[in-house]
Amino acid sequence: MKKNNLWKNFLIFFLVFIFLASFFSLYNKQESNIEKISLNQVANLLQEDKVQSLIVDGEKITVKLKDGGEKLSQKEVNEPLTASLRNLNVTPEVLQTVALDIQTQTESSVWLTTILPIFLPILIIGFFIMVMFRQVQGANNRAMSFGQSGAKINPLGKNKVNFGDVAGSEEAKQELTEVVDFLRNPNKFLELGAKIPKGILLLGSPGTGKTLMARAVAGEANVPFFHISGSEFVEMFVGVGASRVRDLFKKAKKMSPCIVFIDEIDAVGRRRGAGLGGSHDEREQTLNQILVEMDGFEQTTNIIVIAATNRPDVLDPALLRPGRFDRQVVVDLPDIKEREQILKIHAKNKPIAAEVSMQTIAQRTPGLSGADLANILNEAAILAGRDNRKKVVMEDLLEALEKVTIGPQRKNHILSEREKKITAYHEAGHALVAHLVPESDPVHKISIISRGRAAGYTMKLPLEDKHLHSLNEHLAEIAVLLGGQMAEREVFDEITTGASNDLKRATKLATALVTQYGMSDELGPRTFGEKEEMIFLGNEIHERRDYSEHTAEAIDKEVNRIIREAAERARELIRKHRSKLDKIADELLKQETLEKEQFEALMI
Ligand code: ADP
Ligand code: MG
Ligand code: ZN
Repeated sequence: MKKNNLWKNFLIFFLVFIFLASFFSLYNKQESNIEKISLNQVANLLQEDKVQSLIVDGEKITVKLKDGGEKLSQKEVNEPLTASLRNLNVTPEVLQTVALDIQTQTESSVWLTTILPIFLPILIIGFFIMVMFRQVQGANNRAMSFGQSGAKINPLGKNKVNFGDVAGSEEAKQELTEVVDFLRNPNKFLELGAKIPKGILLLGSPGTGKTLMARAVAGEANVPFFHISGSEFVEMFVGVGASRVRDLFKKAKKMSPCIVFIDEIDAVGRRRGAGLGGSHDEREQTLNQILVEMDGFEQTTNIIVIAATNRPDVLDPALLRPGRFDRQVVVDLPDIKEREQILKIHAKNKPIAAEVSMQTIAQRTPGLSGADLANILNEAAILAGRDNRKKVVMEDLLEALEKVTIGPQRKNHILSEREKKITAYHEAGHALVAHLVPESDPVHKISIISRGRAAGYTMKLPLEDKHLHSLNEHLAEIAVLLGGQMAEREVFDEITTGASNDLKRATKLATALVTQYGMSDELGPRTFGEKEEMIFLGNEIHERRDYSEHTAEAIDKEVNRIIREAAERARELIRKHRSKLDKIADELLKQETLEKEQFEALMI
């Protein structure tokens, strides 16, 4: 890149040079068009009374003839023209009849004729040297800029986001409105003796809009916004992180009031002293520097640090102390109303057909984040574009929804007849168990079209958003997960690998029931195993055991029991309703996809 620049400069100089040269040669040419004559000839012309006027400019004489012609001549240096002419026998009488116009050298012509030719090359050379010098220095600067924060500054008014662009999260907004108020007029609070909060921690799963929210705070308060990600502090050189923090806050102080946003702070803010390995020291220093900077704020500094993380559990407690990130704002996954609002916000700049119901999409997307929803709308627009339609229709949105949640359709993934049949029975097993177990969410759609890594899929949808789940719901879920394999067993008397993902999820859920939710009577209401983060050579070592070998055995037994019982339950239901299972599978083989209504019609 540097080399390119050098060449570019060369080229520019070359062009300038050519331009100047041609300019001067043109200037000279104009003069050389006119015939040059000697002073004697001028005298002769005067005596023959052919001359209208003489224009003297320095040493140059322009002779204007009466017939309209023009001649050039040269005067003697340091000798008045009249004296020279008199020496050539031009009488004063003749001279009197001729208009004599003596021009002093004008400033511009002095520039053009004398100074410029001398200075221009010097200027060009000087400029050239300066540019070269700068470039070398630039390279040096780049080498020195490791310690600079590299924060992206979003000054006022650029891509401004407001609270209006963030749907839902009303509590978070309310909490942050205070911050906006602090930034707008700090004195109101200072006069009351209130301490301005220095740090705010946004907690929430990925894609819930934490970054967006922080930008909206900056937009609402109308202050600059510094954006840096926790991982950007940590580079391969030791000590860089701390100096970047210093640099970041130095810059921020210059632009105060402002917001410093540290995204993914868990990258530097993990609990200190828990790690093994080298990169750890670096992180610790960076974290310390952040704490030092935040402690160093004066009450009047008016910088608010907003940090975001989706792993609050791993953060160093020192970060959460009063005077640091003592305010914590939870940004939740959106509920159904909020999902609809988010969809509407992202639909604003897209031509959406009138029949599209965002409410329906919102109903079908429990547990999805704002980022997922934005992604669905984007995918839908791409689908519409692929079909050369001018508007996004409901089908696009539904297809996009399944693409985002399950995976893209794999139309070329052709199953053999037998595989198709097995898949149909597998999915029918899930659906049948889901339908028959009262605590399970109702079946929404069944399909044996491959999507992502799944050969088929059964979608269930809760009737409403749920935040709490009972033991029975969990047990029902495990039975539904095992329903696929149980159907295969029942019908084909053998099992395939298609159920491995189901089994993994069932096992995970059963383990969680015992070890995290305290839902096992056998082991009692307590948790087992402490999730502790330790970084060792880039791998996370999970779970510290806080129970005996004996208990470990008991946990294993409990998990096994739960899974066995759920499998038994599923199998029994399938046996008892075998005819319905066949009906679903047949219909699936015929139609490939069954919607809720079609499925329920089969169940009557
Ligand atoms: P996070 O930082 O929590 O991972 P982001 O702020 O980066 O999430 O959100 C990603 C994108 O998802 C945003 O740019 C926005 O398009 C969309 N989004 C998320 N939450 C919302 C919301 N509440 N309202 C509108 N858009 C949202
Ligand atoms: Mg983010
Ligand atoms: Zn399955």
